[in-house]
Amino acid sequence: MSYLVIENLNKQFEEFTAIKRLNLVVKKGEFVALLGPSGCGKSTLLRMLAGLESPTSGSISIDGVDVTDFSPSQRKISMVFQSYALFPHLSVKENILFGLKARGVPKAEQEARLRDVLEQVSLTEQQHKSPGQLSGGQRQRVALARAIVSQHSICVMDEPLSNLDAKLRAEMRTEIRELQKSLGLTLIYVTHDQVEAMSMADRIVLLNKGEVQQVGSPQELYGQPQNTFTARFIGSPAMNVFSLPGQDELIGVRPENLYLTEHGIAGEVLSTDYHGDSTLLKVGLINASTVLIKVDRWQQFNKGERVCFDWELTDQHHFCSTSETALA
Ligand code: ATP
Repeated sequence: MSYLVIENLNKQFEEFTAIKRLNLVVKKGEFVALLGPSGCGKSTLLRMLAGLESPTSGSISIDGVDVTDFSPSQRKISMVFQSYALFPHLSVKENILFGLKARGVPKAEQEARLRDVLEQVSLTEQQHKSPGQLSGGQRQRVALARAIVSQHSICVMDEPLSNLDAKLRAEMRTEIRELQKSLGLTLIYVTHDQVEAMSMADRIVLLNKGEVQQVGSPQELYGQPQNTFTARFIGSPAMNVFSLPGQDELIGVRPENLYLTEHGIAGEVLSTDYHGDSTLLKVGLINASTVLIKVDRWQQFNKGERVCFDWELTDQHHFCSTSETALA
């Protein structure tokens, strides 16, 4: 059932188009990641959803109600930002309850919701501390708790994990995902990190220069990229996109799907990158293009060494060399 419906949404900043004719339908309880490189318009889109920015044209409706002209508070959307936006002079508990107090929610209900949410985000012991006495991960949990306690059914998050170190980020990814599922939250989550989007979201909206490149499940974006932008953006290291002599179209093969063999396409090793479980070879081809080949564990190659590689036809993608869209 469609819950959040965005139709023909445009945002102009004077001459500059930040979002172009965007259409999206989100189901209740769905986790949708807005993904794309810096400046692609993801925060602008999120801000329009939250009511912090007005669209130039187009409409947004939630649960059948057109909210395009509603204020942020009328929309009943909770927000979590990268900066946490906690009040430094208030305790964890006071920060979490701030919105409920402002809305005049009865005290007994506030206390009950607080107890639940502190348990959900494992902050019961920290409730009397001030944000300054917490770690980055704990502060982010306070921001999450504040969003959850509001019991709004849509939550928007803008790069909520980018201030955390890699290990904590991985833990919080799982936590947010589990909370979102158990609460049945409809979550719109902005990130520039494809790993985050791939590992957390039900569906990804991939944006570039204000335009949707592809919408689909992580598996669809990885397995059936509709253009070379998606092909290169999803997956790490990026998909190789190259042309072969005498062929008109572009070929795409992921580094993990190329393998070294006696007979195949020849190239010269330009560099090697060791990653523990794998080694990434950068190989130069005769026509001056380069490909990355991922081989198992550590394998020694000398710069300038000749190697041959190949791939299975089932791992091959085809793109038009002019439009760069996928060919059937
Ligand atoms: P990042 O990941 O770097 O935050 P983003 O995808 O969230 O990038 P936005 O912040 O949505 O990008 O910005 C999209 C484009 O719109 C950028 O080129 C930005 O410079 C421009 N932009 C955003 N806000 C304004 C504004 N108030 N006035 C003019 N241009 C703006």
